[in-house]
Amino acid sequence: MQEQKKRRADILSRYFGYDSFREFQEEAIDAIMAGRDLLMILPTGGGKSLCYQLPSLLMDGVTVVISPLLALMHDQVSALKAASIEAEMISSMQSMEEIREIEKRLFRKETKLLYIAPEKLASEYFRAMLSKLHINFFVVDEAHCLSQWGHEFREEYRRLDILRRLFPRTAIAAFTATATEVVRKDIVDTLALVDPLIVRGSLFRKNLHIEVEQKQKNGMAQLLDFLKGRERESGIVYTLSRKSTESVARELCSYGYSAAAFHAGLETEHKRAVYDDFVADRVRIVVATIAFGMGIDKSNIRFVVHITMPGSIEGYYQEIGRAGRDGLDSHTLLLYSASDMLRKKAFIDELEDSEYKSASYEKLREMMRYAEGEECRHAYIARYFGERIENCESSCDNCKMPEILKEDISTAARKWLSAVYRSGQQYGMGYIIDILRGSSERRIKERGHDTLSVYGIGSEYDKVQWSAVAERLIEMEALERNEYGGLRMTSVGVEILKGRRKVFIRKSRLKKRRKRAARAGSFAEPSTLEELRFERLRRLRSEIAREEGIPPYIVFSDRTLKEMSVKLPSDMDELLSLHGVGEIKAQRYGEAFMELCKELAGVEFEK
Ligand code: ADP
Repeated sequence: MQEQKKRRADILSRYFGYDSFREFQEEAIDAIMAGRDLLMILPTGGGKSLCYQLPSLLMDGVTVVISPLLALMHDQVSALKAASIEAEMISSMQSMEEIREIEKRLFRKETKLLYIAPEKLASEYFRAMLSKLHINFFVVDEAHCLSQWGHEFREEYRRLDILRRLFPRTAIAAFTATATEVVRKDIVDTLALVDPLIVRGSLFRKNLHIEVEQKQKNGMAQLLDFLKGRERESGIVYTLSRKSTESVARELCSYGYSAAAFHAGLETEHKRAVYDDFVADRVRIVVATIAFGMGIDKSNIRFVVHITMPGSIEGYYQEIGRAGRDGLDSHTLLLYSASDMLRKKAFIDELEDSEYKSASYEKLREMMRYAEGEECRHAYIARYFGERIENCESSCDNCKMPEILKEDISTAARKWLSAVYRSGQQYGMGYIIDILRGSSERRIKERGHDTLSVYGIGSEYDKVQWSAVAERLIEMEALERNEYGGLRMTSVGVEILKGRRKVFIRKSRLKKRRKRAARAGSFAEPSTLEELRFERLRRLRSEIAREEGIPPYIVFSDRTLKEMSVKLPSDMDELLSLHGVGEIKAQRYGEAFMELCKELAGVEFEK
């Protein structure tokens, strides 16, 4: 044992140049050396690669590493070769001769690590070749890619279940930076890991300073503001479309920044050049779609800005995690807007697989909740991945927000909770707001809720403000939603209701929206919720239009649908009072739309 420890320390310093292991590395290496399956979840920069590279040097055979990206493999192989470690990669990019050469070296047992793309395993020939080798163990890098519940799902990765079937006696070590509970389970099940050692490092990285702001216009002014004084720092700016990577990069250059665009549509050589220039600090800022950054080995990325909101917290966290791998202070800014969310949502609408689709909707909703939320950002992210941590206190905008910018809404919160409690803990947000604001809607009267003591006690806020109060309570886990969007109180809610806990909200959350509502003319400008309703109404309109073979605007105009999304008419009179709804249209389409409105009145987000 002593001997083995000495050899490890020796290799660590000789090949890798380090004098000690980082937290968790030895544990993982122990498991691998003992032939045990392993699942290691450690944030980017935690030092995962060493955990399989080092033991490979202590073993007789070859370690087969499955990796999702060519560029990633290429970098790892070059880095290993530079450290005099025999490593090779086999991908679709090589010629037959090159592959034959590599195979020869493999059979001569000269190669310590072999990197392959997952699709290689589909080839009979390749599998036969593997089965003749002495394999130490398999490594599945970026293992979250095999899960539909993850955020970078890859079909070829799903088929890695073949590993255990073909090589039942060879251990598997899976690595990822982030995995929720579901993804973790999916990895263990898919790879059929047997009693794996699960090593999980804390996600919390105090050196990452997180800021989130609502986007104004296209976000350019906020970006420039953020970049002031960072002219000599390296950073990544993420945006949604290829076109916008180019226009933002151009604009940054015009302000004197050293910036380049990067997206999947560029020529391979061009991409390589941008990547190399960035790593070598010849270009300071890369403006990219998500195609950039996975596995990037650059430790001094000082900032990451999202000028469009990512589709999931997993994606977001991976992306901001690329900053500050050297442990020094680094800054991240997320700009979010409801319209970005709708654009993302439109992508999801196009997906075929319904399970994947609903998982994607849920991820997007969670992302929006995070963006709008007021909890400690680090604690929120940690909780999302199943870890509980204390508030960061000083590494995020929410923890640093001065008290003066917050409003005590404990009384309003008690009204909310009381209305939820007294109406039986089953109704959605819109309905509770109607009770609080004393709406004369029929459904309230029919259920006798106009006789509750909470009926009409909430005239101080408008609908949008009351939704903000509810969102705040949901964030604090004082309220929770049932599967239909109905709200019920939790033990935190009880504490608040009894006056044992106070509730604060960012003032801007109440104010801005009030302004918004007042600015609009005949109907309030849609809040996020209303925009979502609008989407549903729009979809119904498209269906009808398609059936009747007419353009959608002939059914109802956008303006009508917008108004409908706010007022949610429940009878003919209400429907007829909307802009652009006449008798004929009301009769022709009214029923279908009112039915949808009824459904929308009870839920916060579409299911
Ligand atoms: P991950 O794959 O978890 O994102 P890497 O394996 O790329 O992380 O390691 C991140 C950085 O930490 C690399 O620059 C690596 O060389 C360095 N590193 C890894 N292990 C150690 C160690 N024991 N001591 C010092 N630096 C280390």
